[in-house]
Order: sequence, then structure tokens, then C-alpha cells
Amino acid sequence: MYSKTGIPLFEEMTWKDVDDCLKKTDVCIVPVGAIEQHGFHLPLGTDTFIAQEMACRACAELARRGCCAVVGPTVPYGVHPEATHYPGSLQLKPMTLVLLLKEICAALQQMGFRHIALLMGHDGNIPAMQVALQELQIERDLDVMCVNWLLPHQGDQRRILPLDFADGHGGARETSRALAAFPDLVHLDRAVSYIPTFPPKPVPCSSEPLLGGAVYRPIQALSMDYWPDRHPGQDGDPSFATSQAGDALYDALAVWLADLLIQEYNLAPKEEEINHGP
Ligand SMILES: [Zn+2]
Repeated sequence: MYSKTGIPLFEEMTWKDVDDCLKKTDVCIVPVGAIEQHGFHLPLGTDTFIAQEMACRACAELARRGCCAVVGPTVPYGVHPEATHYPGSLQLKPMTLVLLLKEICAALQQMGFRHIALLMGHDGNIPAMQVALQELQIERDLDVMCVNWLLPHQGDQRRILPLDFADGHGGARETSRALAAFPDLVHLDRAVSYIPTFPPKPVPCSSEPLLGGAVYRPIQALSMDYWPDRHPGQDGDPSFATSQAGDALYDALAVWLADLLIQEYNLAPKEEEINHGP
């Protein structure tokens, strides 16, 4: 089984397992990740694996409160044009991701899932996720929610792993989440430090909307020096990562996500919790 929580992924179940789950819940959390370079030390599937672990921990938290949800299916592809020059990065066009998400959600609806939460594993996917759910609402009257944990967990991340330098994609905090979930795939011996020096922001709140800011200008990401011979592919210093910090970040997120699902979907405790093996 992938996650040490013991929560099975959709892909690990048989059709009968899914059928049994549907008798107990109509909620599923669909991790939406990416196959994207993450520096010298993290695997291409980092965003996908982390989103799966977040969903599993949230389901484990729900189970502790007597509530059920299913993790998956996972969407492992994302939108990340800035990573094009790094071998292994396998990106979709935004509209391809919109169509993919719509068809997956429609299939889940058809089999009986009425509440679907798309869990952001890669921030570049957020616009496509939002378009997909707007269209699903209009076309199928399907209740889909896009969950972006980045903004509500900015404070948690800074509190749990304080750093006095820039930390981002593949940096100490993301590497901590990787160490806590899939340590065998983390190559800290190959990690390098790369602290970016961002230019001063021209106006207040100019960070991207996904981080609570007001201005989204994709050319800024595309014009970064993202070439393999100039940039290791990650921002920050992974040597500050610890699996304990990763666990603490997952735990904070699991409580937040469980609270959110219970509140939004009016989940009530069930007598038995889902406990199927792969
Ligand atoms: Zn990432």
C-alpha cells in the first residue's frame, strides 16, 4: 500500500472495493499533481505523491472522527510550462487538463460519487481546476470543490519550519513533505542550495491570486532563468528539510481538510469506517 496511513488509493482497490465504499460514502478527494522536475534530489512525481499523502492523511483524520471519504483517482499530469527544458517534465496544455478533469469527474458522478474535492498538488493547475469545476456545475449540476491549501497553510509552514531565506519549489519545506511520505525517493546527497533573489514587488499584494495576491502574470514564471545549465530546478536549501517538519505539516493540513469536508458536505459519523486493503 502506498501510504503508511493504511488508507488505500483508488487505484489500489478492486471494483468491488469501490462498490463497497460507495455504500458508505459519496465523497472522494481527487489529488491533482504533476510530472515535473523538482531539482536534483526529488522525483518527477513529487507533487502527485505529496497530494496523495495529504488526501490519505485527511481520510485517516476523517476516519478517526467516524466519517468516510475515498482517495482518488489521482490525476498525475499538470500545467507547468516553465519546466519545459528539463528532461522528464511532462506537461499538459491548460485546456487538456480541463477536459481530463471534467471527464474523470463525470465518470465518478456516474458511478455514484456526488461530492468531489479536487486537491491541488501543483499550483499551476489551479486555473484549469477552477474552469473544469465551473463547467461541471453548469453542464452536469455536479458539486465539485477546488481545494488550494497553499494560502491557509502559509503560516503553518513558516511556524513549523522557520527559514530566513526564500523557500519554494523543491525547497526545504517541500523536501520535508517528501521525506515524511516517500523517503526512499529523496536523494539529499544530490541536493544543492539555490536561493533566488526576487526583484522587489512593484505594488503591494502583487503575488499571484493563488497565494492571496492581486496580480497574475504568467510571463514572470516563464522568464525565470529555468534552464538546466543555469538553474538546478529548485528554489531554496533542501538541507534544512526534516521528516518531522513534513509530518507536522501534513498533520495540520489533515485537520484543516477534514474540518472543511465535514463542514461543506455535512458529513456525519458512520458506524463502520472503510477499511479495505489493496
Ligand atoms: Zn512541487
